[in-house]
Formats: sequence, C-alpha cells, structure tokens
Amino acid sequence: LYDAKRGSGRGKAHFFSAAHQSAILQNIAIEHALINGNLEDELYLEFQPIVEAGNGLPMGFEALARWRSPTLGQISPGLFIPVAERAGLISKLTRLLLTKALHQAGAWPAPLRLSFNLSVHDLSIADGLLPLISIITASGFDPRRLDLEITETAMMRDFAQVTQAIDTLKSLGVGISLDDFGTGYSSLTQVHRLPLDKIKIDRSFVVDIDKNPASHKIVKSLVALCRDMDLSCVVEGVETEEELKVLRELGCDLIQGFYFARPLSVDSIAGFLAGPERI
Ligand code: C2E
Ligand code: CA
Ligand code: CA
Ligand code: CA
Repeated sequence: LYDAKRGSGRGKAHFFSAAHQSAILQNIAIEHALINGNLEDELYLEFQPIVEAGNGLPMGFEALARWRSPTLGQISPGLFIPVAERAGLISKLTRLLLTKALHQAGAWPAPLRLSFNLSVHDLSIADGLLPLISIITASGFDPRRLDLEITETAMMRDFAQVTQAIDTLKSLGVGISLDDFGTGYSSLTQVHRLPLDKIKIDRSFVVDIDKNPASHKIVKSLVALCRDMDLSCVVEGVETEEELKVLRELGCDLIQGFYFARPLSVDSIAGFLAGPERI
C-alpha cells in the first residue's frame, strides 16, 4: 500500500503496525461492501429488551443494526457504523434502518417503546434530520413511544446544532436518551441544558460493580444525578444477578443487558412478550 517504515535502522518502530494496516484494509473492504451491497436486503435489526429493574417487565426494546454481507459475512455494528460515518453513508443507513424499525415496532402492543440509535451526522438539519422526521411521520408509529438515542460524544461534538435538532425532534413528541453516559467528557452543566428524557449509563461502569467500590460510587452518583434532574436512567450491560442486585439497591429504574435478554430477532419478540413472568 505504502512504505510504512519510518526510519531505516534495525529495530525502528513501524509507523503503521501490521495490526493497524490490516484494520485499514478491513475498513476499505467494509466501505466497498457497503457501497456495492444491496443494503435493503442485507441490513436488518435485532431488538434488545429494556426492562424495569424491579419486576423485570419490558418497557421497550432498543433496535440494534445487523449486517449480513454476502461477501464479508456477518459484520458487527461496532465495525461498520464508524466506517459508514466516515464514508458519508450513514444517513442512507439510518433512513433504511429507521424505516424498518418503525415498521416492525408497529406490531408491538402499546405502551412498549422503541429506542433507536442516531449518529451525529443524522442531526444536521437539512440533509440528516428532515428526512428522518418524514420517515417518523409517515410510519404511523406514535412518536411519543419513540426514544432516539444520541451518544454523549455526539452531543458534545456540535452542541449548538445538536440542541437545535433535539428541540425539533421533541416538538414531534419523541423522547431523547443520552447514550453511553460517562464515556464522554461533557460537563454536568451542558447535560443540564439539554432537554433529555433518559440517560443510559454505559456498561463500563457496571462490570464488576458488586466487587469494585469505584464503579459502585460512580453509578450511585449517576443514579442520584438522574433523580435530581428528573430523568429516568437505564443501566446498560447488566450480565449477572450480583450486578442486578446492587443496581436495584441503588434505585436504578431500567436495566438492559444479557442477564435479562440478548438482542432478539424480530421473529422471537412475540414469544418473549408471551413468555413466563420474570422476577
Ligand atoms: P450501544 O448503542 O451502546 O448498544 C448497546 C450494545 O451493547 C449492543 O452491541 C448490545 O448488543 C450490547 N450489549 C447489551 N447488553 C449487553 C451485556 O449485558 N453485555 C455485553 N457485553 N454487551 C451488551 P451491538 O449491537 O454490537 O452494538 C454496538 C454499537 O453499535 C451500539 O452501542 C451503537 O453505538 C452502534 N449501533 C448499533 N445499531 C446502530 C444503529 O442502528 N445506528 C447507529 N448509529 N449505531 C448503531
Ligand atoms: Ca444505544
Ligand atoms: Ca450505549
Ligand atoms: Ca456503547
């Protein structure tokens, strides 16, 4: 591709390590497959339940993008979403996914909610946001049952534009969730100025919360903060009964994680909803 060597002497570091170089090649392959693929057929959604901490009953589902590429196989969104963002393809993906998600969620009984992830590019008013508003309006899905998730990092990237986009979306009645909270570097003053409905506490604070006093303290103060600001909070990535027990003691409202359910295929949602009473 290019001469990756920096300097000529023996033992000098390579500017691009082999791992970095293969990551670059992988991203090029992903971009190529996104451009040439039939995304309408290849992209689909799974839905992960978000449940009430107290009784385990679902309040809704988060839509999670999945991609089965005929050339590359199954690619995780952690890989292809960032590539789509950098390649200028994300608005197309978001429109396609949101259309599918609203259509599929249309089959769920009220008041179950749909959470959907937006990328920062989706919030630019003219080319990002307006098409999404048309999709929401045309879907017939009650916008008051829709939560749009925006990561903390995205919010902070262009605070003024994001605030304007959020105001526009809220005027439709949709809820706004601050995703991956705690992983960005927002100040509480900024968070306070946004008209948010929910905060999603990132999984990194939950891992080993039953054994790690630092995580325990952080989640405790985040939960208290949500209560002060009158926001509901979702704790993400709960995997064990021990973690759940601590989170219940801390007074968390909502839980999302493998302990309750993995992301489900659209066909298995009805079975999940009909399933046995959860604790
Ligand atoms: P996210 O929005 O933070 O979504 C939660 C991720 O955590 C999902 O990974 C989910 O499968 C995973 N997860 C849930 N519970 C647990 C648990 O108990 N343990 C562990 N280890 N993981 C858990 P997934 O589906 O691979 O998605 C990764 C990221 O890709 C998402 O993180 C989100 O940032 C992005 N993404 C997914 N779908 C979309 C989409 O439609 N649009 C956009 N813009 N981004 C998306
Ligand atoms: Ca999310
Ligand atoms: Ca998250
Ligand atoms: Ca995340």
